[in-house]
Amino acid sequence: MNTDHSISKTIIISNRLPVQLEIDKNNINATPSIGGLATGMKSVHKDSNGIWIGWSGLTDEDLNDDLKNKVKKSLEAHQCVPVNLTSTDIDGFYYGFSNKTIWPLFHYFMEYAEFEKPDWEIYKQVNQKFADVVLENLNDDDTVWIHDYQLLLLPQLIRAKKPDIKIGFFLHIPFPSYEVFRTLPWREEILEGMLGADLLGFHTYEYERHFLSSVQRLLGLSLDFNNVILEDKNVCVDSFPMGIDYDKFANAAKENNKLKQKDKSEVQVEIDKHLDESPDTKLILSIDRLDYTKGIPNRLLAFEYFLEKYPEFKGKVRLVMLAVPSRSNVPQYQLLKNEVDQLVGRINGKFSEISWTPIWYFYRSLPFDNLIDLYTSCDVALLTPLRDGMNLVAKEYIACREDKTGVLILSEMTGASKEMSETLLINPNNFEEVSDTLKMALEMPKEEQIERNKGLQKRLKRYNVERWASDFIESLEESTSKHKEDKIKKLTPHRKEQLLEKYKNAEKRLLFFDYDGTLAAFQKIPENAKPTEAIFDLLDKVHNDPKTDLILITGRDKYTFNKWFAHKNYTLITEHGAWLKDGEKDWEMLEALNNDWFGVILPILERFMDRTPGSLIEEKAFSLAWHYRNTDPDLGQRRANELQSTIQDLIANHNLEILEGDKVLEIKISGVNKGRSANKMLLNKTYDFIFAIGDDWTDEFMFKELPEQTHTVKVGLKKTIANYYVENTTQVHKLLDEFGNTSVN
Ligand code: UDP
Repeated sequence: MNTDHSISKTIIISNRLPVQLEIDKNNINATPSIGGLATGMKSVHKDSNGIWIGWSGLTDEDLNDDLKNKVKKSLEAHQCVPVNLTSTDIDGFYYGFSNKTIWPLFHYFMEYAEFEKPDWEIYKQVNQKFADVVLENLNDDDTVWIHDYQLLLLPQLIRAKKPDIKIGFFLHIPFPSYEVFRTLPWREEILEGMLGADLLGFHTYEYERHFLSSVQRLLGLSLDFNNVILEDKNVCVDSFPMGIDYDKFANAAKENNKLKQKDKSEVQVEIDKHLDESPDTKLILSIDRLDYTKGIPNRLLAFEYFLEKYPEFKGKVRLVMLAVPSRSNVPQYQLLKNEVDQLVGRINGKFSEISWTPIWYFYRSLPFDNLIDLYTSCDVALLTPLRDGMNLVAKEYIACREDKTGVLILSEMTGASKEMSETLLINPNNFEEVSDTLKMALEMPKEEQIERNKGLQKRLKRYNVERWASDFIESLEESTSKHKEDKIKKLTPHRKEQLLEKYKNAEKRLLFFDYDGTLAAFQKIPENAKPTEAIFDLLDKVHNDPKTDLILITGRDKYTFNKWFAHKNYTLITEHGAWLKDGEKDWEMLEALNNDWFGVILPILERFMDRTPGSLIEEKAFSLAWHYRNTDPDLGQRRANELQSTIQDLIANHNLEILEGDKVLEIKISGVNKGRSANKMLLNKTYDFIFAIGDDWTDEFMFKELPEQTHTVKVGLKKTIANYYVENTTQVHKLLDEFGNTSVN
């Protein structure tokens, strides 16, 4: 597709395009579809020169080259671009991994989830096919908005090729609890795929919370409120409950209520006839796709239980149940169809009278006008999904109640229930509760119905689907501009060049390198972070230059550093400044320290270690550290807070302080820190180039206390007062290498 390079645009990507295609002889007919998403996206899609990328609904096997061209052309007229997929792709990607793995798992149907490697492979390939089409159509200042569970890998696939593009992702289904999500064999890949986005949107706070929990536990990443901290950016995670096209439903209902007899639909005429014959009969509405998540069998069973428990309602109520055919290629859906058919047959057989059948059951999809007939005619809506990301039917029913009457009974397992607390919320597995609530709904006074629906309608009208879409796009803009702010401090190639130039021109240089998280990446077991030959080579090159004094400065104990580095004659400062080994000289104490207080603090730390699986105590000569990197992240943080408050008084009494590092609390004599000890190294010599680099909170003392002209660099994106940041240890090695090369030249 030709896109104007001068105007930035938004690219929307979803599995299906918002256009229905039909092959008519050798031609293609395209009609726009009218789903909620298409409406919500309208302003994003049409007003901003946008394009929509997705599968057309026709496979490569359905199309010869000529037809393929025609598909492309006719979609172009709708600002759409097709991703061409084969029927094998659709089987593995759509019916397979999307609907036999992700869909059941994310809806807590763990026993339905199939873990088939071939399907996963195709899912990856198809996500790549989507990425290829996106990249062909993408300009540098475009915004990308990806939708839903079929495209979980797409954010990262785009990010890998275009690091600076704005990418948003919205998940339209639930994100399950970590305990469920962790069962997926490809769980890390899925999370990493999603984290390619700048903004990740979910319908509810619960889904957001589950996602963040999985990211912490499975990828070991840290959070800053609702931001996931990655090496080179933060990913914002937030909830945006999707709305409906409120006015469309409200206006259609208004028109429908005004219709003259002759203009009414067949469905409406039938409903009216029924109401004329038995005016005190009430209609209960149920509308869903025929999906096992929607709780249709349990709804039928609860309705049966209701008729048994409250027989006075026999002949007085009718359940109007519309089940829309869906994914009938997936075996679970075929089984469900049989189950529902049988249940309806059994219940109708059991209770029917000559003039009354309790359930009217339609297995089809109905045109929009007929949906409105149902929404406006039914006194009660009974929606009992076992799990549902949102449930738009609930919102549509309320929007269609022109006089504000009508009672909505809604499963608390739906995303919609979080925003619709005025409705009657039920646990769909509790038949007792469902049947009692149904009775309450049927008997609810009109005034109460109106009272409940008033505020609800107002909110649904305000936070409609367009507002939802614009809200998401605004947040995406905000989060990417925040990322830009973060990146302001990045040690860009240009800045690095300037730094190296100063390094080169200096007569005498002093370099402070933190060790863990800076020269060596964190390991589960701290002893495993020992220096490799490659690190020694890099350090040697710098150290051998007589113009350069290199100092490794660490919170680690003297024993370990002595073992690792003493043979190299580097200058070492350990335990945040307690000990110094100045080149070839022996270790000396930099501070007058003691450890008389160990007996008071150690037993408390041991109690915390025993109660917090994964945590461990490190005993140094003059300090005690409690590490909680390998604990459950929530538990570790909670216990860290608890520990701080437990020892607060003791700390003050013994002139100690707590140093809060990265997943470690260190207790030590007050006043000793890397800043103070680093400054001591400046006392007897004059340097015209001072440099300090480190990754955690304890390194901030150096950044703060070293002379102003010091070049300070933070590793990672955490908050810092350093001048610049680099992403990771690899970048530190590069920089060290460049320092080394400058020395050699
Ligand atoms: N719907 C439809 N035709 C029908 C019945 C329902 O288009 O015959 C629409 C309904 O108006 C609603 C959507 O299908 O907008 C169902 O959305 P919901 O969030 O309730 O469930 P989903 O199918 O997305 O899981």
